Amino acid sequence: MPVVSIVKGEKASEAVRKAVDLISGIQKIVRKGDKVFIKPNLVVPLAKESGATTDPEVVRAVIQIVRRAGASQIKVGDAPFFFYKSRKAFEVTGTQTVVEEEGAEAVYLDEEEYLEIESPKAKLMNTIKLPKVLLDCNKLITVPKLKTHTMCRVSLAIKNQIGLLSPEEKQIYHRTDIHQKVVDVTLAAKPALAVIDGLTAFEGQGPTYGDAVDMGVVIAGTDVVSVDAVTSSIMGFEPSEIPHIRLAALRKLGEMDLNKIEVRGASISEARKNFKRPSADVMGIYPNIEVYVGCACYEGCSAWARVELDRLRKHGLLEKVGKINMIIGQDAKVPEKLEGRTYIIGDCAEEHKDKGIFVPGCPAFGILGKIQPMG
Ligand code: SF4
Repeated sequence: MPVVSIVKGEKASEAVRKAVDLISGIQKIVRKGDKVFIKPNLVVPLAKESGATTDPEVVRAVIQIVRRAGASQIKVGDAPFFFYKSRKAFEVTGTQTVVEEEGAEAVYLDEEEYLEIESPKAKLMNTIKLPKVLLDCNKLITVPKLKTHTMCRVSLAIKNQIGLLSPEEKQIYHRTDIHQKVVDVTLAAKPALAVIDGLTAFEGQGPTYGDAVDMGVVIAGTDVVSVDAVTSSIMGFEPSEIPHIRLAALRKLGEMDLNKIEVRGASISEARKNFKRPSADVMGIYPNIEVYVGCACYEGCSAWARVELDRLRKHGLLEKVGKINMIIGQDAKVPEKLEGRTYIIGDCAEEHKDKGIFVPGCPAFGILGKIQPMG
C-alpha cells in the first residue's frame, strides 16, 4: 500500500525531514553515489510570500537530506512559463541563494540541451524532449507548490512535471489535452519522491493570479498519484475530479483511491482547508467584458482569456480597459456591430478576425498581456 505523510506546523527543515522519515526515510530512496535532480516549481519570478512558487527553504531541506543520504551530485533545475527566464526565477524566488549556500548546482532549463527519447507508453508524446542534464541523473525528486490551477484544477506533483519540457514542447498540447500531457511527461520521467511545499499555499486563480493561503503543511510520498490524491483531498477536491490524477491512475502510475493509501502523521481531515476553486469561465464574470463563445476548449483559449482577465483584475486594471469584446472558438455567433475593443482569440475564431485584434495560436497564448488600459 502506498504511504503518504502529512506534517503540520513546523519549520521547513523539520517538516521535510519528518515527512520523509514518516514514509521510509531518505536512505530507502536515495542511495550513496546517486545523481539527484531536484525540481521545484518556479513557474513565475515571484517570491515565496506570493504562494505561487516553491519555498526555497523547502528546497534547502531537500538538498540537505539528499546530501546526508550520500548523493554524489545534486542539481536543482526548472524553467518558468516561457514568457520568463529561468535565471530571473531562480534569483527572485531566492532559490539561487539557497542552491549556492548548500553547494548544489543550479540548472536553468531554458538554457539546457534537450534530447529526444522514445516513450512508448505515452498517449500524446511518444517521443519527448527531456533535458540532457536530467537524463544524466538517476533520481528525480519533485518539490511542487501546493496550489490550484485554472486549467488543471490542482498543480501538485504530476502537474509540476511540465516544467521539465523544452520551451517548444511546453507550448504544444496546452489545451484540453494538457491533462494527458502531464501524465505523459510523468511516464517518461517518473519522480522517485515528491515533497509538496504547502507552508504557504495558493488558492483560486492559480497558477499565478490566485491568493496565498497560510497552510503550514508538508506532504511527502514516493507514489506521485497518491501524493496528489491525498493533497487534493486536503484542498477539498475529490481526487477523481482531477482529470490528470484519473489518467495517471489508469496508466498505473500510482494509486488514487484514498482507501488504498496509508496516511501517516496528521490525518487528511486535520490538514484540510477547502480551497477557493479555480475557474476558466469567461462569460458573465465582469460587466464590461462581453464574451462570444462558439465551440472552444475550456482549458485552451477560454482559460487563456480568463488568465488575461485575472491579470487585469489582480493589477486593478479591469475598470480601466473600458468595454471589451472577446470572440473565442469555432462558429461563435457575433453581432454585426460591436461597441468597444474586440479581441478574436485563437485560430479557430479566425473567421471573425476583421472585427478587431486577432490573437492567433492554438491556444492563443498571446492574449496574456495584450489588453491594455485605454488611452
Ligand atoms: S484555437 Fe480552438 S482548438 Fe485551439 S485551443 Fe483555442 S479554442 Fe481550442
